[in-house]
Amino acid sequence: MKVLVTGGAGYIGSVVAEELLQAGHAVVVIDNLSRGHRQAVPLDAELAVGDLADRALLDRLLRERSIDAVIHFAAFIEAGESMKAPETFFRNNTANALTLLEAMLASGVKRIVFSSTAALYGDPEHTPIEEDDPLRPANAYGESKLLVERMLAWFHRIHGLRYASLRYFNAAGASRPDRGEAHQPETHLIPRILAVVLGRAAQVNIFGTDYPTADGTCVRDYIHVSDLAHAHLLALDALAGLREKGLPEEGLRKKGLREDSPPLIYNLGNGQGFSVREVVEVARQVTGHPIPAIECPRRPGDPAVLIASSQKIRRELGWQPRFPELKTIVESAWEWHRTHAEGYANPATDASRRK
Ligand code: UDP
Repeated sequence: MKVLVTGGAGYIGSVVAEELLQAGHAVVVIDNLSRGHRQAVPLDAELAVGDLADRALLDRLLRERSIDAVIHFAAFIEAGESMKAPETFFRNNTANALTLLEAMLASGVKRIVFSSTAALYGDPEHTPIEEDDPLRPANAYGESKLLVERMLAWFHRIHGLRYASLRYFNAAGASRPDRGEAHQPETHLIPRILAVVLGRAAQVNIFGTDYPTADGTCVRDYIHVSDLAHAHLLALDALAGLREKGLPEEGLRKKGLREDSPPLIYNLGNGQGFSVREVVEVARQVTGHPIPAIECPRRPGDPAVLIASSQKIRRELGWQPRFPELKTIVESAWEWHRTHAEGYANPATDASRRK
């Protein structure tokens, strides 16, 4: 299959691009490199540097490269930032997704896997969270993604678009020692903790110690980026089987899916929660560093607890996490950060990279 990966120079997108190539698919990445890294794009993928707001570029790529399916990552992801400048999230995440969907419609590309988020659920009434639980985002980032899910549902209903929406809980870790998380700015907990070990910050800030949780800090469900990536390939296969393999019944009935089955909406997490303090403690064990932490006020828009039920994707697509342990996740992240303190900015260490 020929797959257009939007945001394929980013943290999760680049891992998925690599997994697609390994599975024998052809990959075209579109990324404006505002957050992503040219060097993160696998050498065997084609890289088109451009913006999703550029409809003409999208039309050209979809048609000239004969794209069969799209995996859409390109988005802003900093929940805290979205509470300061929501307009940039609605522009970049929501409006640009509409441009992409319009271009797909015009080019007859009928399949998309969408990178969605646990932030759709806001403050859940119970955990673990299931896919049909109420969607009430607590931050503008979550809302910007929910609006895309709503558009997808209407495009499905009216235009027959087939889609999978994967609601990620907290993506973390590294798929290889030379491919990891390198956000700018970095707002995520694990890289910020490891920055302390690398001497780039004096201490880690714990945002909020008065949440209704066992130790007062927020609880999250951390999932290894490789496990997350694998789910995209399963979802893509399921979408392809639904339409084109000519034997939808055979392959998909086994998985409990039908040709006319509803969109594939799945949570992705490990089903286990760790508090901010617990994550800091695991990082201390992994790195052997004391990692000083200070207590700070809450970060606006943070729900207290987000833990996934991923039973649905396990049941329907046979997904299983290979690296469910937080320690393994932090170890892989540490391996990447320890050897790439500058992220992708030091080509000397990775001679085979795209320049
Ligand atoms: N967090 C923190 N200090 C940091 C970064 C994050 O205490 O320097 C907390 C944050 O408030 C949240 C949790 O760690 O409760 C996970 O945050 P992250 O930004 O990694 O992911 P999110 O859950 O927002 O997607």
